[in-house]
Amino acid sequence: MSARPFRIGRSTTGLGMFATERIPKNTRIFEYTGRIITNEAADRLPGKPRYLYDLNKKFTLDGSPRSNLGRYANHSCRPNAVDYTYRGRVYVKSLRAIDPGEEITYDYGKIYFNAFIGKENCLCVKCVARREKEAGSSPKLAAPASVRAEKRRVARPENTAT
Ligand SMILES: [Zn+2]
Repeated sequence: MSARPFRIGRSTTGLGMFATERIPKNTRIFEYTGRIITNEAADRLPGKPRYLYDLNKKFTLDGSPRSNLGRYANHSCRPNAVDYTYRGRVYVKSLRAIDPGEEITYDYGKIYFNAFIGKENCLCVKCVARREKEAGSSPKLAAPASVRAEKRRVARPENTAT
């Protein structure tokens, strides 16, 4: 595997990171780089900075510099990679074998997800599939409320004797 087994390209959410060769399972793909700032400094950054990575109670990694190609890896609720820290540095490794052309994604975590993405906006395969499923069970096909209530009553174990 080469030192950079990926390229940056168009994805459903703008830019994304795509494998250019097969990446075996449990393989380090890239380091998430940037400048280390104090948490207080991170809190004072203007706007809603998107590329901050909590290192510990004191320091945050600001991954906004363009030299940090890791910032192009998108979030997924069903990721094929995962972030981890090792000796104060942040890396992303594969969770399974990744094929050439596949987008490399990792889970950004709950705090980021709730602040910036949200269940209704997430464009990962899992969320898109979930919304399609929800849209498929349209309200007009559902049973009237009275019928549904009846079903719930019947389903309760204490009513099964009647
Ligand atoms: Zn999602």
